[in-house]
Amino acid sequence: MDRTAGQLQLTGDFVRGARFACSACGAEDCSVHDTEPRQWRHLNCFQYACYIQARQPRVTCPHCGVKIAPVPWARPGSGFTILFEAFTLTLMREMPVRAVSDLVGEWDTRLWRVLDHYVTEARDQRSLDTVTGFGVDETAARRGHHYVTLFVDLAESAVLFATPSKDATTVTRFVEDFQAHHGDPAAVTDVTMDMSPAFIKGVTTHFPQAEITFDKFHVLKLLGDAVDAVRREKRKLCPELAGTRYLWPE
Ligand SMILES: [Zn+2]
Repeated sequence: MDRTAGQLQLTGDFVRGARFACSACGAEDCSVHDTEPRQWRHLNCFQYACYIQARQPRVTCPHCGVKIAPVPWARPGSGFTILFEAFTLTLMREMPVRAVSDLVGEWDTRLWRVLDHYVTEARDQRSLDTVTGFGVDETAARRGHHYVTLFVDLAESAVLFATPSKDATTVTRFVEDFQAHHGDPAAVTDVTMDMSPAFIKGVTTHFPQAEITFDKFHVLKLLGDAVDAVRREKRKLCPELAGTRYLWPE
Protein backbone atom coordinates (compact mmCIF):
# COMPACT_ATOMS: atom_id res chain seq x y z
CA MET A 1 0.00 0.00 0.00
CA ASP A 2 1.32 3.41 -0.99
CA ARG A 3 -0.36 5.81 1.40
CA THR A 4 1.23 8.89 -0.17
CA ALA A 5 -0.07 8.04 -3.63
CA GLY A 6 -3.32 6.71 -2.15
CA GLN A 7 -2.92 3.40 -3.95
CA LEU A 8 -3.28 -0.23 -3.09
CA GLN A 9 -1.57 -2.72 -5.40
CA LEU A 10 -2.73 -6.35 -5.39
CA THR A 11 -0.36 -8.72 -7.12
CA GLY A 12 -1.45 -12.11 -8.42
CA ASP A 13 0.44 -14.88 -10.15
CA PHE A 14 -0.02 -18.43 -11.43
CA VAL A 15 1.85 -21.57 -10.51
CA ARG A 16 4.57 -22.85 -12.76
CA GLY A 17 3.19 -25.28 -15.32
CA ALA A 18 -0.35 -23.85 -15.21
CA ARG A 19 -2.28 -24.09 -18.48
CA PHE A 20 -4.71 -21.55 -19.90
CA ALA A 21 -7.32 -21.05 -22.61
CA CYS A 22 -6.77 -19.44 -26.02
CA SER A 23 -8.62 -16.13 -26.32
CA ALA A 24 -9.10 -16.58 -30.07
CA CYS A 25 -10.75 -20.02 -30.33
CA GLY A 26 -11.48 -20.90 -26.70
CA ALA A 27 -9.33 -24.04 -26.75
CA GLU A 28 -8.48 -24.90 -23.15
CA ASP A 29 -5.42 -26.43 -21.65
CA CYS A 30 -2.82 -24.59 -23.71
CA SER A 31 0.73 -24.24 -22.46
CA VAL A 32 2.19 -20.85 -21.60
CA HIS A 33 4.41 -19.30 -24.25
CA ASP A 34 5.40 -16.15 -22.40
CA THR A 35 3.87 -13.49 -20.18
CA GLU A 36 3.28 -9.78 -20.22
CA PRO A 37 3.09 -7.63 -17.05
CA ARG A 38 -0.33 -6.00 -16.82
CA GLN A 39 -2.23 -3.77 -14.46
CA TRP A 40 -5.99 -3.22 -14.10
CA ARG A 41 -7.72 -0.55 -12.07
CA HIS A 42 -10.20 -2.20 -9.71
CA LEU A 43 -12.87 -0.89 -7.30
CA ASN A 44 -11.47 1.27 -4.52
CA CYS A 45 -10.44 -0.42 -1.31
CA PHE A 46 -11.52 2.00 1.41
CA GLN A 47 -10.30 5.38 0.08
CA TYR A 48 -7.44 3.85 -1.92
CA ALA A 49 -7.40 3.40 -5.68
CA CYS A 50 -6.89 -0.33 -6.09
CA TYR A 51 -4.91 -2.01 -8.86
CA ILE A 52 -4.55 -5.66 -9.75
CA GLN A 53 -1.16 -6.55 -11.16
CA ALA A 54 -0.43 -9.86 -12.81
CA ARG A 55 1.58 -11.49 -15.54
CA GLN A 56 -0.90 -12.14 -18.34
CA PRO A 57 0.09 -15.31 -20.15
CA ARG A 58 0.25 -15.80 -23.89
CA VAL A 59 -0.40 -19.42 -24.75
CA THR A 60 0.65 -21.69 -27.58
CA CYS A 61 -2.65 -22.77 -29.11
CA PRO A 62 -2.54 -25.86 -31.36
CA HIS A 63 -5.02 -24.13 -33.71
CA CYS A 64 -4.10 -20.43 -33.59
CA GLY A 65 -0.46 -20.21 -32.62
CA VAL A 66 0.59 -17.77 -29.90
CA LYS A 67 -2.43 -15.99 -28.43
CA ILE A 68 -3.19 -14.07 -25.28
CA ALA A 69 -5.00 -15.96 -22.51
CA PRO A 70 -8.11 -14.15 -21.21
CA VAL A 71 -8.31 -13.10 -17.57
CA PRO A 72 -11.65 -13.59 -15.79
CA TRP A 73 -11.70 -10.12 -14.21
CA ALA A 74 -11.35 -7.92 -17.31
CA ARG A 75 -12.42 -7.85 -20.93
CA PRO A 76 -9.63 -8.08 -23.50
CA GLY A 77 -7.71 -4.86 -24.01
CA SER A 78 -9.25 -2.99 -21.08
CA GLY A 79 -7.10 -1.50 -18.34
CA PHE A 80 -10.05 -1.68 -15.94
CA THR A 81 -11.62 -4.67 -14.25
CA ILE A 82 -15.19 -5.52 -15.25
CA LEU A 83 -16.40 -4.39 -11.82
CA PHE A 84 -14.66 -1.03 -12.17
CA GLU A 85 -16.21 -0.60 -15.61
CA ALA A 86 -19.65 -1.46 -14.20
CA PHE A 87 -19.16 1.10 -11.43
CA THR A 88 -18.18 3.91 -13.81
CA LEU A 89 -21.00 2.99 -16.21
CA THR A 90 -23.46 3.30 -13.33
CA LEU A 91 -22.09 6.77 -12.58
CA MET A 92 -22.11 7.78 -16.26
CA ARG A 93 -25.85 7.14 -16.40
CA GLU A 94 -26.32 9.77 -13.71
CA MET A 95 -23.74 12.49 -14.48
CA PRO A 96 -21.53 13.82 -17.27
CA VAL A 97 -18.52 11.67 -18.18
CA ARG A 98 -16.25 14.56 -17.28
CA ALA A 99 -17.66 14.61 -13.72
CA VAL A 100 -17.06 10.86 -13.39
CA SER A 101 -13.53 11.40 -14.68
CA ASP A 102 -12.84 13.92 -11.93
CA LEU A 103 -14.43 11.69 -9.31
CA VAL A 104 -12.49 8.51 -10.06
CA GLY A 105 -9.29 10.19 -11.29
CA GLU A 106 -9.18 8.65 -14.77
CA TRP A 107 -8.94 10.42 -18.14
CA ASP A 108 -12.38 11.01 -19.59
CA THR A 109 -11.17 9.63 -22.95
CA ARG A 110 -10.67 6.24 -21.28
CA LEU A 111 -14.15 6.37 -19.78
CA TRP A 112 -15.66 7.36 -23.14
CA ARG A 113 -14.07 4.25 -24.67
CA VAL A 114 -15.72 2.07 -22.00
CA LEU A 115 -19.07 3.78 -22.59
CA ASP A 116 -18.75 3.44 -26.38
CA HIS A 117 -17.91 -0.24 -26.07
CA TYR A 118 -20.91 -1.18 -23.94
CA VAL A 119 -23.41 1.11 -25.66
CA THR A 120 -22.36 -0.28 -29.06
CA GLU A 121 -22.57 -3.83 -27.75
CA ALA A 122 -26.02 -3.25 -26.26
CA ARG A 123 -27.32 -1.55 -29.43
CA ASP A 124 -25.95 -4.37 -31.62
CA GLN A 125 -28.05 -6.84 -29.64
CA ARG A 126 -31.18 -4.73 -29.80
CA SER A 127 -33.84 -5.57 -32.35
CA LEU A 128 -36.30 -2.86 -33.42
CA ASP A 129 -38.60 -5.26 -35.29
CA THR A 130 -41.60 -4.46 -33.06
CA VAL A 131 -41.37 -0.66 -33.35
CA THR A 132 -44.47 0.78 -35.06
CA GLY A 133 -44.19 4.39 -33.96
CA PHE A 134 -41.72 6.96 -32.74
CA GLY A 135 -41.36 10.60 -31.82
CA VAL A 136 -38.69 12.89 -33.26
CA ASP A 137 -37.47 16.18 -31.83
CA GLU A 138 -34.30 18.22 -31.75
CA THR A 139 -32.54 19.57 -28.71
CA ALA A 140 -29.67 22.02 -28.34
CA ALA A 141 -26.50 20.06 -27.65
CA ARG A 142 -24.69 23.11 -26.31
CA ARG A 143 -24.83 26.87 -26.59
CA GLY A 144 -25.15 28.19 -30.12
CA HIS A 145 -26.57 26.32 -33.05
CA HIS A 146 -25.45 22.81 -32.24
CA TYR A 147 -28.40 20.47 -32.39
CA VAL A 148 -28.96 16.81 -31.74
CA THR A 149 -32.03 15.06 -33.09
CA LEU A 150 -33.50 12.28 -30.99
CA PHE A 151 -35.74 9.49 -32.25
CA VAL A 152 -37.67 7.99 -29.36
CA ASP A 153 -39.79 4.89 -29.00
CA LEU A 154 -42.79 6.45 -27.28
CA ALA A 155 -44.24 3.09 -26.23
CA GLU A 156 -41.03 2.09 -24.43
CA SER A 157 -39.86 5.60 -23.48
CA ALA A 158 -36.46 4.68 -24.91
CA VAL A 159 -34.12 6.50 -27.26
CA LEU A 160 -33.84 4.66 -30.57
CA PHE A 161 -31.26 6.88 -32.25
CA ALA A 162 -29.49 10.20 -31.75
CA THR A 163 -27.63 12.12 -34.43
CA PRO A 164 -26.19 15.63 -34.93
CA SER A 165 -28.10 18.44 -36.71
CA LYS A 166 -31.85 18.82 -37.28
CA ASP A 167 -32.31 18.67 -41.04
CA ALA A 168 -33.96 16.04 -43.24
CA THR A 169 -30.74 14.00 -43.44
CA THR A 170 -31.20 13.07 -39.77
CA VAL A 171 -34.21 10.98 -40.82
CA THR A 172 -32.12 9.34 -43.57
CA ARG A 173 -29.48 8.35 -41.02
CA PHE A 174 -32.15 7.09 -38.65
CA VAL A 175 -33.85 4.89 -41.23
CA GLU A 176 -30.50 3.29 -42.13
CA ASP A 177 -29.80 2.49 -38.49
CA PHE A 178 -33.41 1.38 -37.97
CA GLN A 179 -33.18 -1.14 -40.80
CA ALA A 180 -29.78 -2.32 -39.61
CA HIS A 181 -31.52 -3.23 -36.33
CA HIS A 182 -34.33 -5.17 -38.05
CA GLY A 183 -36.77 -2.24 -38.03
CA ASP A 184 -39.33 -2.22 -40.85
CA PRO A 185 -40.10 1.33 -42.12
CA ALA A 186 -43.33 0.06 -43.70
CA ALA A 187 -44.53 -1.14 -40.28
CA VAL A 188 -44.27 2.34 -38.78
CA THR A 189 -47.76 3.83 -38.61
CA ASP A 190 -47.36 6.71 -36.15
CA VAL A 191 -44.82 9.51 -35.88
CA THR A 192 -45.05 12.52 -33.60
CA MET A 193 -43.00 15.66 -34.21
CA ASP A 194 -43.02 19.45 -34.28
CA MET A 195 -43.97 21.25 -37.50
CA SER A 196 -40.43 21.22 -38.88
CA PRO A 197 -40.61 20.96 -42.70
CA ALA A 198 -37.33 19.00 -42.66
CA PHE A 199 -38.77 16.27 -40.39
CA ILE A 200 -42.04 16.17 -42.33
CA LYS A 201 -40.14 15.71 -45.59
CA GLY A 202 -37.84 13.05 -44.15
CA VAL A 203 -40.63 11.06 -42.53
CA THR A 204 -42.99 11.14 -45.50
CA THR A 205 -40.10 9.98 -47.72
CA HIS A 206 -38.84 7.13 -45.56
CA PHE A 207 -41.95 6.09 -43.62
CA PRO A 208 -44.72 6.20 -46.22
CA GLN A 209 -47.28 4.42 -44.01
CA ALA A 210 -46.81 6.77 -41.07
CA GLU A 211 -49.49 9.16 -39.96
CA ILE A 212 -47.92 12.33 -38.56
CA THR A 213 -49.16 13.81 -35.31
CA PHE A 214 -47.87 17.20 -34.22
CA ASP A 215 -46.85 17.27 -30.56
CA LYS A 216 -49.45 18.91 -28.35
CA PHE A 217 -46.65 20.95 -26.79
CA HIS A 218 -45.72 22.58 -30.10
CA VAL A 219 -49.36 23.13 -31.15
CA LEU A 220 -50.21 24.74 -27.81
CA LYS A 221 -47.21 27.02 -28.05
CA LEU A 222 -48.41 28.31 -31.42
CA LEU A 223 -51.92 28.67 -30.03
CA GLY A 224 -50.64 30.56 -26.99
CA ASP A 225 -48.58 32.90 -29.17
CA ALA A 226 -51.63 33.56 -31.39
CA VAL A 227 -53.88 34.30 -28.41
CA ASP A 228 -51.27 36.70 -27.06
CA ALA A 229 -50.93 38.46 -30.43
CA VAL A 230 -54.69 39.01 -30.49
CA ARG A 231 -54.66 40.24 -26.89
CA ARG A 232 -51.93 42.78 -27.69
CA GLU A 233 -53.87 43.95 -30.71
CA LYS A 234 -57.14 44.35 -28.77
CA ARG A 235 -55.44 45.99 -25.81
CA LYS A 236 -55.31 49.28 -27.69
CA LEU A 237 -59.11 49.32 -27.75
CA CYS A 238 -59.73 47.59 -24.39
CA PRO A 239 -57.29 48.92 -21.74
CA GLU A 240 -58.64 46.38 -19.20
CA LEU A 241 -56.70 43.69 -21.16
CA ALA A 242 -53.40 45.14 -19.92
CA GLY A 243 -51.58 42.78 -17.57
CA THR A 244 -53.84 39.83 -18.32
CA ARG A 245 -51.33 37.86 -20.41
CA TYR A 246 -51.08 34.94 -18.01
CA LEU A 247 -54.81 34.74 -17.40
CA TRP A 248 -55.37 33.45 -20.91
CA PRO A 249 -55.25 29.67 -21.12
CA GLU A 250 -52.54 28.16 -23.26
ZN1 LIG B 1 -6.84 -20.95 -30.40
